[in-house]
Amino acid sequence: MKTAAQYRKELNKMRANIHIAGEKLTRDDPRLAQPINVVAATFDAALEPENKGLVTTLSKVTGAEINRFCNIHCSTEDLLNKQAMTRKLCHKVGGCIQRCMGIDATNALSVITYDTDQKYGTEYNKRFMKWLEHFQKNDIVANCAQTDVKGDRSKRPHEQADPDLYVRVVERKSDGVVIRGAKAHNTIAPYAQEIIVLPTRALTTEEKDWAIAFAIPADAEGIHQIVRLASIPIRKHLQAPIAAFGDAESLTVFDNVFVPWDRVFLNGETDMGGRLALQFAEYHRHSYTGCKPSITDIVMGMTALVAEYNGVAKAQHIQHKLAHLIGVAELVTAAGIAASVTGKKTASGTYIPNSIYVNAGRRLAGENIFHEYEILCDVAGGWYATLPHEEDWFNPETKAYLEKYTMRNPRISPENQHRLFRMISDMMTSHWFGVELGGQYHGGGSPIMETIGILRDYDLKPKMDHVKYLAGIPLDDPHG
Ligand SMILES: Cc1cc2nc3c(=O)[nH]c(=O)nc-3n(C[C@H](O)[C@H](O)[C@H](O)COP(=O)(O)OP(=O)(O)OC[C@H]3O[C@@H](n4cnc5c(N)ncnc54)[C@H](O)[C@@H]3O)c2cc1C
Repeated sequence: MKTAAQYRKELNKMRANIHIAGEKLTRDDPRLAQPINVVAATFDAALEPENKGLVTTLSKVTGAEINRFCNIHCSTEDLLNKQAMTRKLCHKVGGCIQRCMGIDATNALSVITYDTDQKYGTEYNKRFMKWLEHFQKNDIVANCAQTDVKGDRSKRPHEQADPDLYVRVVERKSDGVVIRGAKAHNTIAPYAQEIIVLPTRALTTEEKDWAIAFAIPADAEGIHQIVRLASIPIRKHLQAPIAAFGDAESLTVFDNVFVPWDRVFLNGETDMGGRLALQFAEYHRHSYTGCKPSITDIVMGMTALVAEYNGVAKAQHIQHKLAHLIGVAELVTAAGIAASVTGKKTASGTYIPNSIYVNAGRRLAGENIFHEYEILCDVAGGWYATLPHEEDWFNPETKAYLEKYTMRNPRISPENQHRLFRMISDMMTSHWFGVELGGQYHGGGSPIMETIGILRDYDLKPKMDHVKYLAGIPLDDPHG
């Protein structure tokens, strides 16, 4: 397994194709340091003895010990462990752990390449398994670039005014394919080593050029990443674990990118393209049953602590609000556990989580996220929003005033009160917060997508038949 230091070293050798605010950067630019710290935590965690078996596992391909972020799920226990690892590591970095992108995309490819080969006599699974060995052996960090920019949402890929609005094959050559288009909102991509491209939706038979899946180095010729940074505000004085972390998303442009055949995992099988899109989404929604409760844990912890500092912890309305946060976090967790233990082995040998439970859990999480922060906003009061700048707490002219006039519970030191409100302020008023909120709502599919998934897979007929039975309506009554 790789160390965080090796990962950073490898990143620094990559071609400069990261664009931020008008500049082209290499990956050692300090502006990327906070997001890179998040991924570094996944390497550090794998080396901690207490995480053995949780953040590490044995590869079913090579038998070697690997980081679980590179694992293919071969049991329901693997699914449970991925969820538990995700919750634990998100706690550690105070937000999205980001590396779930790679594990979710590789698991989806493992299932669908196998089924495609069975149906069409292709050899995608053989290619994928070979690439997977490289992925596991080199402990690769991958982004999954699924979401196309999509143009007019009411139109299909082949109906768009510009066909490049969904990533597509523009040329098939003897040694590979040439790709054009752009994928949006790509978390981790600016500091990922590989980008795994998957289709974003169901495709019709005219859409062979859009039924494409592949893996490509993130700095390959023709790839341009236009990146938005979203890190916790940098602290000058009040250092704290949370301030070390951040996030970045890219609009990833594929400007005639060549992909050799050994990295192409789907090419023109439109029915399987739709299945691949869905399978990734369901693995990713399963990851959300680990990360979202972790975020709620942090919101819940901030809410409970600020209520205590403010002296109102016992107020009944605050207790009810905390109970609501606990209910959401643990129900989403329970949905992930249920999805794992009722997960099924596919023909490929890879396990998939139960789709109803992952969709129900992810939907509950997405629909509650704004309300969770509303609860924190309510209980914290306005001080997090108008908190003076960090420097003023360290300026001899203003320090004493701030410490005197912000005192609440005299048992709690002014520094600790400042620390808590600084964290709430960073997490509720920053650039980082806005992006996290969007990610927690839309990532893995907006709640409407989970609604569609539930209605697609849930059989309502037995429920109606049961009511007919209870009401005494004959099942075969032509007027029923
Ligand atoms: C912070 C963040 C990180 C993300 N990370 C990744 C990533 O790493 N990789 C990745 O692939 N994706 C990523 N996503 C993308 C995420 O999956 C999408 O945002 C989500 O699927 C919604 O797509 P969209 O943003 O294009 O919204 P849109 O497709 O524009 O949808 C917005 C809304 O429009 C409506 N709508 C859309 N289409 C239709 C239609 N045909 N008919 C009726 N109504 C419609 C729905 O109400 C929908 O909620 C990320 C998103 C965020 C915010």
